[in-house]
Amino acid sequence: MIKYLIYCRKSTEEEERQILSIEAQLAELREYAREHNLFIVREYTESQTAKEPGRPVFNQMLNEIEKGGAQGILAWNPDRLARNSIDGGRIIYLVDTGKIQSLKFPTFWFEPTPQGKFMLSVAFGQAKYYTDNLRENILRGIRQKLRRGELPAKAPLGYFNEPRLRTIEPDPKTFKKVKKILEEFATGRYTLTSIQCKMFSLGLAGRDGKPLALSSIEKILKNPFYYGMFYYRGELHQGSHKPMISKKLFDKIQQALKDNGKPRKKRKEKKEFLFLNFAKCGECGYSITAERHIKKSGLEFVYYRCTKKSKTMKCTQSRFLREEKLAEQVKEYCQKVSLPDVWRERYLNKLKEWEKKNRQTSDLFAQNLKEKINNVKKKLERLTDAYLAGALELLEFQQKKNALMSEKETLEEKLFDFERNGNRWLELTRNWILSASQAKNLILEENFSEMKNFLKTIGSNRRLAAGALSVAFKKPWNYLYEMPTEARREAPSEAANQLWWTRGGSNP
Ligand SMILES: [Zn+2]
Repeated sequence: MIKYLIYCRKSTEEEERQILSIEAQLAELREYAREHNLFIVREYTESQTAKEPGRPVFNQMLNEIEKGGAQGILAWNPDRLARNSIDGGRIIYLVDTGKIQSLKFPTFWFEPTPQGKFMLSVAFGQAKYYTDNLRENILRGIRQKLRRGELPAKAPLGYFNEPRLRTIEPDPKTFKKVKKILEEFATGRYTLTSIQCKMFSLGLAGRDGKPLALSSIEKILKNPFYYGMFYYRGELHQGSHKPMISKKLFDKIQQALKDNGKPRKKRKEKKEFLFLNFAKCGECGYSITAERHIKKSGLEFVYYRCTKKSKTMKCTQSRFLREEKLAEQVKEYCQKVSLPDVWRERYLNKLKEWEKKNRQTSDLFAQNLKEKINNVKKKLERLTDAYLAGALELLEFQQKKNALMSEKETLEEKLFDFERNGNRWLELTRNWILSASQAKNLILEENFSEMKNFLKTIGSNRRLAAGALSVAFKKPWNYLYEMPTEARREAPSEAANQLWWTRGGSNP
């Protein structure tokens, strides 16, 4: 049986931009090998141009063939193997001398006959012709894609480029999350910054694991791709992909974006009530409403009271709470969960310490996974050797190979996830420290509308009864809230710190 080597190559040159990525080539070739029952003993990948002779991995592969370790090569196209006469000649010479018995290309038919060899040498020599034709080919390809309703570019967040069918498909890991974000933003309750936090908390982060840039988020919110169309060179095309949202929702998002940009003053002119939709009645659980009263003196006052909409129970709350009184309480709550400056510095230092420690342990963790993956790869090689030596039946070989392949897949996925999300908790802790110390500024600025929003995001179960506001805080905010006032004045002691971090810090 002929043993094959897979060879994938893609250089960073401009003219190779349209060539399949190495990963995509690998995926195609593995599939091809499966379909044609080719025995692959090794895979070689290289990112270098083939215009000049002397690629290291390519040479390594030919050495392997000269030594008799394999008799066949599988590559995407002859131009992946060689684009210069020397390397091309070496391949043809190996075919002539019988060291290479088979060359397989999904895109090119080759057989070791005089005609076949002639065609191959033409293919190797085609580099120049290829470059000249590339532009035309790319344009033709793009036109065809557009006609089929396929976006000829990288898939937006929530989708992925299917490498085999070359279509864009919903990404099972992110599709629902992006959809949720779009729906949330359409409500108009979010600013770009607050939707950024929300996305981050759902795990929608950039490649570097940090929150997505605001400009990228804006692009997402304005991308017609999500309702089934897409722009290409300023022109709107009907897509053939699965839409994520309706056009109606998309329009709502555009409106929300527009409203977002309006200056605050304009909104105040509408005389909205500051704390409307902020709390529920502490007795009956129904909404608190607001009213504007004008006294005889001509002074205007805003009051908050229970709507008493419950039909099953009679709510006894009759108090009208002045807006100033409620604002006072909102401020007090904010004060209680804000982080004093002395604490902030201390915690940021602590965080740095953690980050350092974490880097060391996570390096170890990743290294460990990589070792495990290598072990599985070695096992796969040994298994193939054993099968080739006749020590295993085909069925047994296949079963063992499948088990190992699945193990490898699991490990690789784990590594990928870890590299992406491993440090998320540190990022979340940093965000928490920063927003907790930010609260202090809101108080100084007497920015009640932002204070209200702040309490809405970090507190739950906001209730109003007998003129008093109550808010329940989530972890780790509740630890700040429960801290005695005296304790907040000075820097936290090391002992208090220990307690704090072991309770709240390890998993904020
Ligand atoms: Zn009530």
